[in-house]
Amino acid sequence: MSLTPGLVEVRNYIGGIWSPGSTDDVIEVFNPGTGEVITTFQSSSAGDVDCAVAAARVAAPAWAALTPGQRAAILYTLADSLAANLDELRDLEVANAGKPISAARGEEFPLILDSMRYFLGAARSLPTQCAGNYVPGVTTMFRREPLGVVAAITPWNYPLWLAIWKVVPALATGNTVVVKPAETTPLTTTRFVELAAGLLPPGVLNLVHGYGATTGNYLANHAGVDLVTFTGSVATGRVIAAAATARPRRSILELGGNAPVIVLRDADLADAAATIATMGLYNGGQECMAATRVLVDEEIAEELLGLITALLDKVVQGDPTDEDTMLGPVISASHLKRIEGLVARRPPYARVLIGGRRVDRPGYYFEPTLIAGLEQHDELIQEEIFGPVITVQTFTGADEALALANDVPFGLSGSVWTENIDEGLRLTSALHFGNVWLNTHLAVGPDFPLGGFNESGYGKEGGIAGIEEFTRVKAVGLRSRTPTV
Ligand code: NAD
Repeated sequence: MSLTPGLVEVRNYIGGIWSPGSTDDVIEVFNPGTGEVITTFQSSSAGDVDCAVAAARVAAPAWAALTPGQRAAILYTLADSLAANLDELRDLEVANAGKPISAARGEEFPLILDSMRYFLGAARSLPTQCAGNYVPGVTTMFRREPLGVVAAITPWNYPLWLAIWKVVPALATGNTVVVKPAETTPLTTTRFVELAAGLLPPGVLNLVHGYGATTGNYLANHAGVDLVTFTGSVATGRVIAAAATARPRRSILELGGNAPVIVLRDADLADAAATIATMGLYNGGQECMAATRVLVDEEIAEELLGLITALLDKVVQGDPTDEDTMLGPVISASHLKRIEGLVARRPPYARVLIGGRRVDRPGYYFEPTLIAGLEQHDELIQEEIFGPVITVQTFTGADEALALANDVPFGLSGSVWTENIDEGLRLTSALHFGNVWLNTHLAVGPDFPLGGFNESGYGKEGGIAGIEEFTRVKAVGLRSRTPTV
């Protein structure tokens, strides 16, 4: 196969012009599968961000003045270009984010394209309340308007996916955009902007690269930005939320999670084990909704653990470009160290049933790991691990399971496993998480809203609700001297 990451030059795209970031800070981009440097680029200055926001502001009125159909016509051409270049983009992502090629080809990249097409269609038929005589003598109608300039700040675990989920709905609803990818994974977003560059008017889509603490922080606080849509850690989410409060303005925060998977006594254990093994390790476990926090009835715990252990034992881990690879590397040396630290600090009563160590090879690999016997206050339960590590706790009744599941700061996703549909509905309703499933996990797509509660953030991405986030509703009252009905 051909990997061509060197062909993407990581530069800013501002007002229709490509240029390097103007600081002297050189950032190295790694291939996590090998630990080798793919390329380098310069971080952006405050001045670069000022220029990008200014370009977006200048372009905003003309872009907003187009009809939804006119914008969609341009963006459908970009979707066609995305389709034509999907394999190249996928290979870039495999090289830069360490995604197993078979999962990237079979699942993630087809869904990225489908998401773009869905957002473009859905943005043309957004609902509002009917016009009507809500006040005597006044007909009130409603306009759904763009917000202006959207800043999109993305993480490294789904670089192109999350760029598309932010940039496309924002553009389709008439906003202009400044996107800042994670400094670890800048390649696919840069390539996507290259594809867009010949199609969109200058200033409609701008790209700045750089460190989060400098470039990202300056962008998030910029007075010329009308909405920040952010996916990333809870810690950075707090910074973005504080910046939004200072002005004040809206933000969308898609933050971390530590998804509970409640397995009741009557569950189909083989099915549950297979899903936990697959969805716990999905994307190397670097998935905010991964099925990583198992809560199992103590009567069936040993049976379930035996099944999961056997499945993890068969996981093929290795080079993400190998077709057979099921589990690739984690994103970086520092992230590997963090996971290793969390596992090493486990309490003495915890039992490592399989895995538990870094793999001795170039790149950043951690073994598929199952740790049982944990208690609610343990760091491995309360923190997001974000690696191929599945934890297990036991309970003695469904209400205890519910209490344990809800007793974390996060509220992103979770699942319940039982053959009793009434009990399943009761428990899924009582989980304080934004996306919950019964007898499945991580069943996601662009057609419906995703998003967390509590410290997992606020605002939605996906579905009609996710597109509406990029708009504001204006009520226009028309007085008439002639009575109307
Ligand atoms: P991160 O918060 O470190 O970085 C995310 C982005 O924010 C990067 O572009 C980074 O450069 C930028 N950034 C960092 N500090 C900043 C600051 N002070 N101001 C502005 N921007 C700043 O997160 P990460 O480690 O890249 O991503 C992993 C996290 O993302 C995990 O916690 C994961 O759960 C979360 N995530 C959530 C969802 C969701 O939908 N809820 C989806 C994917 C990932």
